[in-house]
Amino acid sequence: MHVLVLGGTGEARDLAARLVERGDSVVSSLAGRVSAPALPVGEVRTGGFGGVEGLADHLVDRRYDVVVDATHPFAAQITGNAVAACARAGVPLVRLQRPGWTRHPLAGEFTWVDDVESARVAAEGLGVRPFLTTGRQQLDTFAVWDDRYVLARVVDPPDWDVPAGWEVLRARGPYPYAAERDLLESRAVDVLLTKDSGGALTEAKLGAAHDLGVPVVVVRRPPVPDGVRVVETVGEAVRAMEVTGARGPSGRSTRNQPDGRRPRVRFER
Ligand code: NAP
Repeated sequence: MHVLVLGGTGEARDLAARLVERGDSVVSSLAGRVSAPALPVGEVRTGGFGGVEGLADHLVDRRYDVVVDATHPFAAQITGNAVAACARAGVPLVRLQRPGWTRHPLAGEFTWVDDVESARVAAEGLGVRPFLTTGRQQLDTFAVWDDRYVLARVVDPPDWDVPAGWEVLRARGPYPYAAERDLLESRAVDVLLTKDSGGALTEAKLGAAHDLGVPVVVVRRPPVPDGVRVVETVGEAVRAMEVTGARGPSGRSTRNQPDGRRPRVRFER
């Protein structure tokens, strides 16, 4: 099958590796936000498509059999675009999204909020030495904390001048338990803020915070649009692709075209 993987996550890289190994024709797409990203095996394209229309055009022009949206659970814009573009281009879509921490054994202890701004408000009632692991993109939500020590961990540096009292760590997971515990203790962190990214690579901080009595504020995930086939593992994604992708954009098998070519899809702009 000819597969477009919308990536930028570890699962997307794992999926690309699995598909290349199977002999599928895979193109992984990255947004191009992160400097020196970890690259998947196989072909890689970088940069936005130009909204729904750009992505739909791309799908038709490149004749993909199936799209797997394996972007981060908080990358809501591209996920919404993928839903609309796939519907428009008639290409099947599978959403691969790692399980969230709503099912984590400690989930009942966390303070759950709907967005990063609400996380800031909630944290103000819980501690005064916060550890921000909510990512670089909305770090400026916390700029009002310019009178205190703040520990923030990001992959790429913020593109604005953070307050003088902040400590910004640049790091990429995985983050093991012992190191997370040391970090929380050495900085005397008294509240941890995170998104519900899920997954094992960044999970240890939750246990470390629990063991040190540090409260945790978690930003809930944006919902996946209705009607999308959602799977949680690479294996499930491959199986779902086989079912949906083999039907091809037109609903007919792409493997049994009389002339061996994939059907050309047309749609109104
Ligand atoms: P977003 O807000 O959902 O998307 C914004 C725009 O970026 C999209 O409309 C699209 O531009 C472009 N884009 C996003 N992902 C793309 C991809 N895989 N390939 C091509 N274009 C893409 O995205 P985001 O939250 O900034 O995330 C960007 C990337 O970082 C994603 O690949 C995601 O998996 C990864 N990531 C995000 C987070 C997070 O917390 N949000 C964390 C870790 C990794 P056009 O409209 O021009 O097509």
